[in-house]
Amino acid sequence: MTDYNSLLQKSPQEFIQFLKENKINRFYFVFDKSTNTLRASHTVLQEMADFIAHEKINFRQHEGMLFQISQKYDILFGAFIHKTNRGQASGGLRYWNYNSMHDFIFDGIRLSKGMTRKNALANLWWGGGKGIMVHNPKYNKSDVKMREAIYKDYGRFITSINGCYITAEDVGTCEEDMGNIFTQTRFTTCIPASVGGSGNPSSATALGVVLGMEAALEYLKLGTIEGKTIAIQGMGNVAEPMMGYLFERKVGKIIAADINAELIEKVKIKYKNKNLETHLVDIKDNSILFEDCDILAPCATGAILNKDTIPKIKAKIICGAANNQLADSQSDAQSLQEKGTTYVPDFLVNRMGIVNCADEQAGYVKNDPFFYRHLDKEYEFGVYQTSLRVLKQSAQTGQTSAQVAIELADELAEELNPIYGHCGEKIIQSLVEDNWADS
Ligand code: NAD
Repeated sequence: MTDYNSLLQKSPQEFIQFLKENKINRFYFVFDKSTNTLRASHTVLQEMADFIAHEKINFRQHEGMLFQISQKYDILFGAFIHKTNRGQASGGLRYWNYNSMHDFIFDGIRLSKGMTRKNALANLWWGGGKGIMVHNPKYNKSDVKMREAIYKDYGRFITSINGCYITAEDVGTCEEDMGNIFTQTRFTTCIPASVGGSGNPSSATALGVVLGMEAALEYLKLGTIEGKTIAIQGMGNVAEPMMGYLFERKVGKIIAADINAELIEKVKIKYKNKNLETHLVDIKDNSILFEDCDILAPCATGAILNKDTIPKIKAKIICGAANNQLADSQSDAQSLQEKGTTYVPDFLVNRMGIVNCADEQAGYVKNDPFFYRHLDKEYEFGVYQTSLRVLKQSAQTGQTSAQVAIELADELAEELNPIYGHCGEKIIQSLVEDNWADS
C-alpha cells in the first residue's frame, strides 16, 4: 500500500470530472466483514477504497459511504454511515468547501464516527452518520434557486438509500434547506416547526452544557456556579441562552467574546444589568481562552484546544458546546490532564440538538420526558450523571476524560437495537445487491 492515492488528491471538482469521464453518477464504499475489506462499487475506485481502509486513526470499519453527483449542479453528495448497531445512522448535513477528496472523505469518516459516540452516550437508539454536500466554488452559495435545487436533490439521494442514514441540520445548512430536503424524503429530522419539526434546540443544548459544568464543579468539590467567573468563546445561539442559565444560578461574572459586533450589542442589551464583560475580537484572536476564570466554555468553533492554546489556559474546568474542541483527542486531552485542567468532553454535554431530533419521530408531548430526562440530574444517562461518571472514572483509571467517554460510548455503540437489530447494515447490503450505484 502506497501512502498516496491520486484520486484522493484530486479536488472535488476534478474528481467529478473523473467520474463523468468514467460514466459514474453514483458510487459507494461498503465494508465487507467476511474479507475485512472496503469494497468499492466500481473497479476504478477500488484503490481509493483500499487507501481509505488502510487509515487506522479515523477509519473504523465504517459500514458504508454512499456518494452521488447532484443532477443539475457539479456538487458532490455524501452519506457516511459509521455504525448502525443501535439504529439508523443519524447526524447532520454539512454544506462545506473542501480542497481535496481526501479532506472531504476523511471529514465524513471522522464526523460520522463522532456521531456514533454522541448518540450512544446519550443512550439514543440511533447509530452514527453524517451527510456532506461539497460546495463547488463556481456557484454562489446564497443563490436561493440553486440551494432549493441541491437540497431537494439531496433529499432524493437520501430517499434512494432507503433510510440507512437519517439527515439533520448542521454547519452550512439552515432550516429552509431542511424544509427543501423534507419535500423529497421522510428520512430527515430538524425540519421546520411549521411542518411538524421540533424547532431550535440551542437553549436545551445550553442547559446541557451548564449541567456538565455543575457536574465538574461537584466532582472537584468546588461548590456551585454561584460566584464563579466563566469565560465563553462565542455569543451565538447556544452561548446566549447559556448566559441566562448561568445568571439564574448567580454566576459571579461572565466574560464573553465574539467576532460579530451586532450580536454583541444584542446580547449586552438582553443582559444589561448583569455582570457581563464582552470583547469584540478578530476571528484568529483566541485570547478569551486565556482569561483568568473558573470555567472556560468554548461555544464557537472546534480545534481550539491545541498545543498552542492549552499551555496558556488558566481555567480549572473546560466545558462548552463547540464540537471537536480538542485538535487531537489523545495528545491534547493528555496535555490538559497533565496540567490539572478538568475537561468535560464536548460530545457528552452538547447532545441536546440530536436528542431533539431523535424525539421528532415519536410525536410531541408537552415537557416531553424523553427529552427533558437528559437534563435531569438523577437520570443515569443524563448529561449530569454521565459527566460525573466519566470524570470519576478518569481519576480512578488515570485515563483522560476524553478517552473514558470514548470507551464508554464505543461500548454502548455495540448494543443492538432492541426492536430492529442491525437493520442499517442490512439496508446497505440490499443496496449493494440491488446495484444501487448503477440505478
Ligand atoms: P452560532 O453560529 O449561533 O454561534 C457561534 C458564535 O461564535 C457566532 O456568534 C460566531 O460569530 C462566533 N465566533 C466564531 N468564531 C469566533 C471566534 N474565533 N471567537 C469568538 N467568537 C467566534 O452556533 P451555535 O449554535 O451557538 O453553536 C456553537 C457551537 O456549538 C458550534 O460549534 C456548534 O457546532 C456547537 N453545537 C451547537 C448545538 C446547538 O444546539 N446549536 C448543538 C451541538 C453543538
